[in-house]
Amino acid sequence: MKIFGIFGDPIEHSLSPVMQNEALRALGIDAGFHAFRVTRVDLKDAIRGAAAMGFGGLNLTIPLKEKALELEFLRADELALAIGAVNTISFDQVSRIRGHNTDGWGALLALQDAGVSINESRVLLIGAGGAARAIAYTLEKEGAEISIANRSLKRAHELATSVGGMGFCLCDLEKLVGQADIIINATSVGMRSGDAGLFDGRLLKRRQAVFDIVYNRDTKLLQDARAAGSVAIDGVMMLVYQGAKALEIWTGLKAPVDLMERAVRRALAERAGETLVKNGKASR
Ligand code: NAP
Repeated sequence: MKIFGIFGDPIEHSLSPVMQNEALRALGIDAGFHAFRVTRVDLKDAIRGAAAMGFGGLNLTIPLKEKALELEFLRADELALAIGAVNTISFDQVSRIRGHNTDGWGALLALQDAGVSINESRVLLIGAGGAARAIAYTLEKEGAEISIANRSLKRAHELATSVGGMGFCLCDLEKLVGQADIIINATSVGMRSGDAGLFDGRLLKRRQAVFDIVYNRDTKLLQDARAAGSVAIDGVMMLVYQGAKALEIWTGLKAPVDLMERAVRRALAERAGETLVKNGKASR
């Protein structure tokens, strides 16, 4: 039996095992996908250990994606190098450890799935972390004009410079929202219940697409987007497509995207039910 895994810290809440195990089963591959808590300090040993034990492949998540590029034995492909982060690792026949990045691909397909046209669109990307970098790089290649707003202005400027866009602070959001065709939240704001919105949702307009890459809940941004009549896109399909691309890199097989989406949405619905029970809101 082949072992696949996702490394990260924290990792308990990852939906990748649910999604990838469903896909592996459907493809008839005798394998298991597991989540492992791995800290930055242990990343090098953990990847070497996985290679030595014959793992089929790995995903990396917070806080390991950038750290992986520092490992001298990892050969990152051109895209991962350009983005500056690795979210997928493959092990080839001659034991080479290769780094890839499928996050930008996932975001692009999620937008296309929702019918959003990217070429020559004005994108307001909020965030300048690992996921934002993958999205900025990918959408710039697709012909978007990108503005980046981030809490740390320095990081906003750095990312904007690398994709030929403009960098702003979050204080500029109220001015920027109205000028964008596509608004993307690539910060972690919205992941926790009670997170305040990044800007006044009443600024959103019907013609805009609003993509919140947070996937663990129905965020305030998505609720505001629906209220405004905008196209509201949650982070689930990005998660599914980045995972599907990783699975295709590891196995060479076409991933069962619909099954993977269903597995994620089912797991999210179960979690939402558990939260309601914990909060004493369930009727029984
Ligand atoms: P990251 O590298 O740690 O970046 C975090 C970003 O969020 C930074 O821009 C940071 O700003 C900003 N931020 C954090 N707390 C904030 C706050 N209180 N107010 C304003 N900005 C804040 O993380 P990441 O890997 O890019 O992930 C970001 C989010 O995307 C997470 O929610 C993650 O779950 C989600 N994600 C989803 C998918 C998917 O497939 N749907 C894939 C990857 C990531 P500073 O630069 O100022 O610190």
